[in-house]
This record gives sequence, C-alpha cells and structure tokens, in this order.
Amino acid sequence: MASFTLHGISVSRGIAIGRAHLLAAAALEVKHYLIAEEQIEAEVLRLKNAMAKVREELHTIRADLPREAPAELAAFIDLHGLILSDPMLTEVPLNIIRHRQYNAEWALVTQIDEVSAQFDGIEDPYLRERKADIQQVGERVLKVLLGSATDLPVADGGDGTFASIIVVAHDISPADMLQFRDRAFAGFITDLGGQNSHTAIVARSLDIPAAVGMHNASVLVRQDDLLIIDGDAGIVIVDPSPLVLAQYRQRQERMQRDRKKLGRLKKTPAVTLDGTPITLLANIELPNDAVAAMEAGAAGVGLFRSEFLFMGRDERLEKFPTEEEQFASYKQAVTLMKGRPVTIRTLDVGADKPMDLAEQTSLNPALGLRAIRYCLSEPQMFLTQLRAILRASAFGPIKLLIPMLAHAFEIDQTLGLIDQAKAQLRKSGQKFDAEIAIGAMIEIPAAALALPMFIKRLDFLSIGTNDLIQYTLAIDRVDHEVAHLYDPLHPAILFLLAQVITLGRKAGIPVSVCGEMAGDVRLTRLLLGMGLEEFSMHPAQLLAVKQEILNSDLTMLTPQVKKIMRCTEPTSIAAGVAQLQETVATLSTQVSAKFG
Ligand code: PEP
Ligand code: MG
Repeated sequence: MASFTLHGISVSRGIAIGRAHLLAAAALEVKHYLIAEEQIEAEVLRLKNAMAKVREELHTIRADLPREAPAELAAFIDLHGLILSDPMLTEVPLNIIRHRQYNAEWALVTQIDEVSAQFDGIEDPYLRERKADIQQVGERVLKVLLGSATDLPVADGGDGTFASIIVVAHDISPADMLQFRDRAFAGFITDLGGQNSHTAIVARSLDIPAAVGMHNASVLVRQDDLLIIDGDAGIVIVDPSPLVLAQYRQRQERMQRDRKKLGRLKKTPAVTLDGTPITLLANIELPNDAVAAMEAGAAGVGLFRSEFLFMGRDERLEKFPTEEEQFASYKQAVTLMKGRPVTIRTLDVGADKPMDLAEQTSLNPALGLRAIRYCLSEPQMFLTQLRAILRASAFGPIKLLIPMLAHAFEIDQTLGLIDQAKAQLRKSGQKFDAEIAIGAMIEIPAAALALPMFIKRLDFLSIGTNDLIQYTLAIDRVDHEVAHLYDPLHPAILFLLAQVITLGRKAGIPVSVCGEMAGDVRLTRLLLGMGLEEFSMHPAQLLAVKQEILNSDLTMLTPQVKKIMRCTEPTSIAAGVAQLQETVATLSTQVSAKFG
C-alpha cells in the first residue's frame, strides 16, 4: 500500500515508530434484535451483571493505581464510576429492554447515543468533551456484554523501541491507557479528542508521543500497518517509505541520545556563558511530583498548583480537603524538596479547572469567580488553606503565591486574611514562618500594566503566561477552534513580559515566569535577553532549558532582544527570535571548537 500521512492535533511530543494495533469500537459490533417477553428479565439481569463487572473493574484499576500515576487518572476513573452509577445508564437502558424489548447491547447503545446527542448542543468545550467519557464507559460495558476484553497483545520484545505497538482507536479512555502502560506501548492515535480531552492530558503527563483528532484514522489504518507518530508535528505517517522510515529512526535515536546526554547536566549549575546564574524551578501538581523535581535537579518548586488537591474528590468526603489533609500534603512537598524553596499557589479553581463540573454555571467561567476571586468569596475555606500552608512553613522554606490578582483591594484583602491566619495560629500555639514571602501571579493584563501597586505590596512576582496570553489576546486557552490564534510572540505579549521583567528588576523584586513559555526551549533566549533570571516549568523540560542557558551569552542576547522589541511586525519578530537560536548555535560551535 502506498504511504500516506494523516493530520491531527499534537498532544505530546516525540517520535514513536511501531505497528498499528486497532482497538475495535465495541459499539460497531453490536447486534440489534428483539427479545421475547419471557426473556426480558434475563436480559435485564445480563446488562445489570455487565455493569457490576465494569464497576468492579474500575474499582480494581483505581485500587491498583501505581503511586507515581498522574493525579488526574484517579479523578478520571472516579468520574467513570460516577457516570456508571447515574440513572441515565443504570435505569434507562433497563427500561428500554423492558418496554421496547431490545437486546441489552442495543438498549445500551440507544441510550448512549441519546445522551451523547444532548452533549453536542453544549457550548462549553470542556463539558462537551465529557461526552467522550460517557461513550468510553458505554464501550466498557459493551465489551463485557460481548465477551471481548480490551485486548492488547504484549509486544514481541526486540529492543523495546522499534518492536512496539501504536494503539489506534476511535477513542481511548484514560483508564484503558493506564492498563496499556506496562506493555510495549509506544504511542497512540485516536479519531476523537481535543487538546483538553482527558486522554490527551494523561498522555502528556505520561510522556508518550500521541496525536488525537485524527478524524477517521481508525478506519484508514489497518492492523499491523507500520506507523510513525511525529508528536511534534501532530502527524502520522502510514506505511512510510524506507527512506522516510530511516530518517525518522535517525531522528528518534538522536532524540534518545540527546535525552540521555541531558541527564548529565543535572548537577551542572545553570549559568550563562557570561557568568549570570539562572534559577530553574519546577511546576508540580501534587506533593509527590516533588520527587521528579528533585530528580531533574530543580532549585526548588516555582509553582505548586494546589487546586489539584481539591479536584476529583471522593463524593463521600467533605467538599474541601481539611486543614490536616492539606497540611500533610504541603509538608510532604517541602520535606521532599530537602531545604529548597517551595512556592505554593493558593487555590486556583474555576475556568478550565472546575472543582465540580455540575457547579459550573457561569457563561464565561474564565472571566468569572475564579482563583483569588473565589477564595475571597469563601473566606473560611481560604483561611483553612492559608493556615495549612503556614503550618507547613515550619518544616522548610515556603513562599505563598496568589493567582489572578488584578485590584489593589484584592491584594489588601488577601494580605489581611494571611495576617488573620497567622494570628489564629499564634493563638493556638502553632509554629510557622512569620516572614513568609508573599507573591502575585501576573496573569491578567491589568496587573502587568499596573505593576507598581503590586511591587509596593508584595515580595515577588510570577508571570503566568498561559493566562496572560489568554486574557490579552481574548483567546480561550482550551478551545481548539481558536488555538491557532494563541501566540506567545504577539507584540502585545512581548511588551507586557518585558515590562514586568524590567520594572521588577528596577524595583529589586524577584520576577519569574511559570507559564508554559518558561519550558519552551525556543523561547529561552528571548526570555534571557529580556532579563529573566527565574524560570519555572514541568520537571521534564528543565534540563533542555538548562542546556540552552549554558550556551547563551547575555552580552550578545540583550542587545539582540532589544532590537526584537523594537519590531512591530510579527514576521520580523519571528525572524529575530529564530536568529537568536542561530547566533547561539554558532557561538556554541565556536565554544566547542575552542575547548574541544
Ligand atoms: C499560567 O496561567 O500561566 C499559570 C502558570 O497558571 P495555570 O496554567 O495553572 O493557570
Ligand atoms: Mg493561570
């Protein structure tokens, strides 16, 4: 068969080469027939038993989750459990069997189609994508009814890289992905999914090359076809020519070698060629992620997204984690970091991180009661979190970071509540760091433009480029329809970034970047040239960024970036940024020629 290329949405980077393993969608295999009246109760029981089996399966997967499994997985599995206990699945299909006398599979598919159609009309892309979760749960039940397990063959060994399997499916549930993880599973592609689908989120955290939104890949690709996933480009090459295959194998080997080499930089201090020390910090979601941060040689945690402790909670528990629960988590992170500072961001829920999907009612949640706005409206909950963080500060260096601040009175109210939390702890004789540093996320354009009022009141600033771009360019960061407009190099973004870094430096207040821009090696030199000295990113990106820093010379970069900042046209900005890479590439060639 001739080679062809499929285009989709890249969700995680890297190259995977392997044979296609098609996961058939059980829904496609379903037989439709009417049952006799006397079979009704037996058929109802068959469906009930299948659901019970899936419930058990989910329970086992949840209980067997490896400790290092990403936190979201447990939440996804819980969500699937919840869907499975909803009357729309537990009651309605049984009634369809009773009243319409459909066989169990047909009754289930009918109801899932019905519920799915209702989701299509939902405007919120996050909620719309939850349709996939319902279908995935339905698929699981169907597979039990049909007696076909989610089978994935064990790869034939080999070198574990080239002999591995690429899963091709209409859709994959995060729980299934977890089961595949221990096999030689090199990557996956799916017809459905956007960048915000649960499966995409899990793929990113597992670091597996993957592409979603491939439309009808599961129809076009045949079992055992040779596939290349180019995760950087979001493409899949089916049956590549020997030449293309050889090129990709070379690229893949080079990437693997580069990764290994980077490991050697773990203990190398991050210092530019002209001798400027740069601080590289890690972003973490859960306390145990601190292990990965330490392994990557991070100088500390620049962003602990505490909201993940609040999300996907077992419904039998209280809505918010208690002070003791939170204290244990913060203490764990700070203990794991062994004396390196941990910046804990207070609860940033809302928008694309709802605590409870059902509660999200705002038409425009990104502009709604999010982050500090929510915390100030729930002072008891906020005080509980502040006390827990403060108590943990007795066990190692902690900084407090406040998200989404825009107004001076919000800063003042927050500082007032922090003082109140301190007073409560003093009263009960609990220890804490009375001098704890307090900083603001600069992620609303208004904050970047009114920086003096932040500098006056706070100890440090951290630029959240993910939201700063969303709010400056008016682009919903989770909506794939406008994803092409999300541009970190837009002149307005560069202006705001440079402004915050420069004003912060002038005032002698530390400024870091903790949004995704900090971990993008293509932007490292741009940020260095603006004067940034603190970067916080996912631990997996840290060593590659360090390598860029080691090859950068600020005496050259600073005037070059000044020149870029004077450009008004996007094309000249892009050319200038590309040139930064070239200059340094030449420079590092010179350095290695000089020193061998
Ligand atoms: C940001 O907005 O850049 C950021 C780091 O925070 P989050 O991605 O959690 O909103
Ligand atoms: Mg943010």
